[in-house]
Amino acid sequence: MKAMILDAPRRPLRLADLPRPEPGPGQILVKVKACGVCRTDLHVVDGELAEPKLPIVPGHEIVGVVEQTGRGVEWFEPGERVGIPWLGYTCGRCRFCVAGRENLCDNARFTGYQIDGGYAEYTVADARYCFPIHGAYGDAEAGPLLCAGLIGYRSLRMTGDGERLGIYGFGAAAHIVAQVARHQGRRVFAFTRAGDVQAQEFARDLGAVWVGESEEKPPEELDAAIIFAPVGPLIPAALRAVSKGGVVVAGGIHMSDIPSFPYAILWGERVVRSVANLTRADAVEFLALAPKVPVRTEIVTFPLAEANEALGRLRSGRLRGAAVLIPT
Ligand SMILES: [Zn+2]
Ligand SMILES: [Zn+2]
Repeated sequence: MKAMILDAPRRPLRLADLPRPEPGPGQILVKVKACGVCRTDLHVVDGELAEPKLPIVPGHEIVGVVEQTGRGVEWFEPGERVGIPWLGYTCGRCRFCVAGRENLCDNARFTGYQIDGGYAEYTVADARYCFPIHGAYGDAEAGPLLCAGLIGYRSLRMTGDGERLGIYGFGAAAHIVAQVARHQGRRVFAFTRAGDVQAQEFARDLGAVWVGESEEKPPEELDAAIIFAPVGPLIPAALRAVSKGGVVVAGGIHMSDIPSFPYAILWGERVVRSVANLTRADAVEFLALAPKVPVRTEIVTFPLAEANEALGRLRSGRLRGAAVLIPT
C-alpha cells in the first residue's frame, strides 16, 4: 500500500510502499477513504512532541471502511464505515482509567503518533476505539469531526455554560466549535492573527458576533475562552478578556511558552486549564450531536501524496477550514 511516512522530525514526509497491515486479535483492517490533517500532525512532523514511534504514518482523523476483522471483533462487520480518532489504546487499569478519565491514561497510545495512522491506503486499529460514522456526512466531510470536532467539543464543555465565548485561532477546531456553541445559544467572539482577513471572514460566515485581532479587547467581557492557536502569549491575552470567574481553556497539545503575567489578571477566580486527548464517551456524545446541530465541516482536499503541501498550508495558516487527504 501507499503511505506517507515520517522518518525523523523536521523532515518532509516520504511517499513509501509498505506491506498492507494485518489485523491482529481485536483489530480491524480499514481501507482509508479520507484522513483529516490536524495541527497535532504538524507538531509531530516539526519535532514539538517528544515521543513519536519512528518511522510513523501520521494521521488520526481517519474515515474508512472495514475491510477485514481480526479475531474476537464482534461489533464491526466488513463493509461498515468507521472513524478512527487520536485515542488508540488505554490500559484500563491505571488510576485514571479506573476513574473514567481514560484521556489521561498513564499507558495510552495515540493514532498517528505511537500507532501508524491514516496517511495511507490502509490502517489497522483496535476496534474498541473506533466509531460508526453518521450517514449524513461524506467521507472527507466527516474527517475533521474526529479530532477537531471531538477535542474541540471537549474544550467547549470545559468552558462551562457561559454565554459569551471567545475563540482564539479560527481553524478546523474553531469552525466546528463555533457551530456547536451557537446551537447551544452562546455568542461567539473570534480572535485571529493580526491582519488575517480570511480567518476573520470565515468566523463571520459562521456566525461570530464580533471578530477581532488576538490582542484586542472585545466589546464586552467574556465568560470563557478557548485557545486553539499554539501561541503561549494568548493565555494572558485571553485572561484579560474574560470576566471574574471566567475560564480559559487551552485546546491544543503543544503551545509556545507562556510569558509571565501579573497575578491581577488571574485574580477573581479566573481559571486557566488545558484539555488533553479525548475519552470514548466524548466521541460517542459528539458524533451523536454533530448531525443534530447540524455541524457542517468546510474542507480542502488533497491527494495523499500531497500531504506535505497540506501540512505547509496549515503551518502558514493558508487554509479555510480543514485539510483532508484522500488516498486514490
Ligand atoms: Zn490507563
Ligand atoms: Zn488532532
